[in-house]
Amino acid sequence: MAELSEQQKAQRANELAAAAKSQKAQLKQSKRQLAMVFDLNKCLGCQTCVVACKTLWTRDEGMEYMWWATVNTQPGKGTPREWEMMGGGFRDEEPQAGKLPTRRDFGEAWDFNYDEVFFGGKGNSVHLQPSGEPDWGPNWDEDQGGGQYPNSFYFYLPRICNHCTNPACLEACPRNAIYKREEDGIVLINEERCKGYRFCMEACPYKKIYFNHVRQIGQKCIFCYPRIEQGVAPACARQCPGRLRFVGFLDDERGPIHKLVKTWKVALPLHPEFGTQPNVYYVPPISPPRFDAEGNIDESKPRIPTDYLKYLFGPEVEPALATLKAEMAKTKAGGKSEILDTLIVYEWKSLFGPFTTDPATIEPRTV
Ligand code: SF4
Ligand code: SF4
Repeated sequence: MAELSEQQKAQRANELAAAAKSQKAQLKQSKRQLAMVFDLNKCLGCQTCVVACKTLWTRDEGMEYMWWATVNTQPGKGTPREWEMMGGGFRDEEPQAGKLPTRRDFGEAWDFNYDEVFFGGKGNSVHLQPSGEPDWGPNWDEDQGGGQYPNSFYFYLPRICNHCTNPACLEACPRNAIYKREEDGIVLINEERCKGYRFCMEACPYKKIYFNHVRQIGQKCIFCYPRIEQGVAPACARQCPGRLRFVGFLDDERGPIHKLVKTWKVALPLHPEFGTQPNVYYVPPISPPRFDAEGNIDESKPRIPTDYLKYLFGPEVEPALATLKAEMAKTKAGGKSEILDTLIVYEWKSLFGPFTTDPATIEPRTV
């Protein structure tokens, strides 16, 4: 067989690169996009969403340390520890190198002295405690927050996989094992194709993929798609007592998600600069005013520094907060606010668009 000339080799390389690009583009396509909006003014930090997800999806071997849904205190290191500093995502549309989070960064799965407490016959002399001396966990810095008394502050930040429109995880997978569902944009990992290379974990700037050390594959939030297919909202949203997790299609113009994100622009993506176009949006927290050095209330400065909120949600957070405050002033003056009525959620069903079916009525019942 005749050797290829340099020009032919270059042409072949270009063809292969173009084919790979078009394959990735196909994996990324979806006709519609499911999204969530979390109103941070209502999160109690109760972790019910976290446990609902854990109970449903991550109880198998190799998944012990996985928490597909997390709620961390801000400011804080989050989970995995200092995930915001780990890189990945895109800059100027170019993929960025990222760090591979370790199980220790996630916080391991602690073991407890169950046998000693329940079967050791020691009565009240022993109490449940972690074995060994853990020095990190998925919610280690809970309620620490930031600032100095009397201006200390914190709020809770629930996170799941963002089911991004431009998923860095998908882009990084050499096996094309990650894809977006055409009908709803949910990002899934095909476990048959995955070979456990973990490039997706490095690439995801939100560090929302976990490695199953037993099955040697990557695993992540699946937006409860078996429930979605039967008209049931994801477990984290359905179980949330704070009524703050809206679920729906982004293009449903009559739904709360479209209105909050597109029309009123009061719900914003987390770290939009990561370049993945996430589909989880946050209504930023409004805080009381600060105290000045004399201990008087200074109405001009919010307790949560605006610069910190800009760091999390980008510059659009300022107009979003201004809109929310204007709406609050309107209702205080006796007026009505469709934005606040939407965020209050008088009827729980208004959170979930077409996904209000009772989970107890579907099969299998565990879903
Ligand atoms: Fe992928 Fe991470 Fe985006 Fe989820 S959040 S779709 S894992 S890049
Ligand atoms: Fe916050 Fe709701 Fe999760 Fe509780 S269940 S931590 S209120 S998002």
